[in-house]
Amino acid sequence: MGDTIFGKIIRREIPATIVYEDEEILGFRDIAPQAPVHVLFIPKHRPIPTLDDATAADAELLGRLMLAAARHAREAGLAEDGYRVVMNCREHAGQTVFHVHLHLLAGAPLGHFGTP
Ligand code: 5GP
Repeated sequence: MGDTIFGKIIRREIPATIVYEDEEILGFRDIAPQAPVHVLFIPKHRPIPTLDDATAADAELLGRLMLAAARHAREAGLAEDGYRVVMNCREHAGQTVFHVHLHLLAGAPLGHFGTP
């Protein structure tokens, strides 16, 4: 699916540290972590470049991304202290890989964010 670096990770053409997988979702460690724990969750089968390209038909898949992150956080012992999930959309958010993905950031208190 898709001709991005994440498509290559799904097809196991390039290595990644995979920490979560189910029928629809793959979770793997970010190559340039922004927190002690930084995992990316991506859909394996449906090509959605950005959140803005998602439609009502993608509602369940987007929900599954969130639940996969929450499940992984729970199983990794991160849920009690807490964590952040982020999805960047296009240029102003700094999106660099156009295969929709959810960031899970955890493992330490996280700084405030959102200011330009
Ligand atoms: P974005 O900025 O598009 O929301 O997030 C893309 C993320 O993918 C970045 O945090 C970046 O570090 C990560 N990334 C880019 N290329 C690779 C790669 O080849 N392997 C892994 N594991 N992460 C990558």
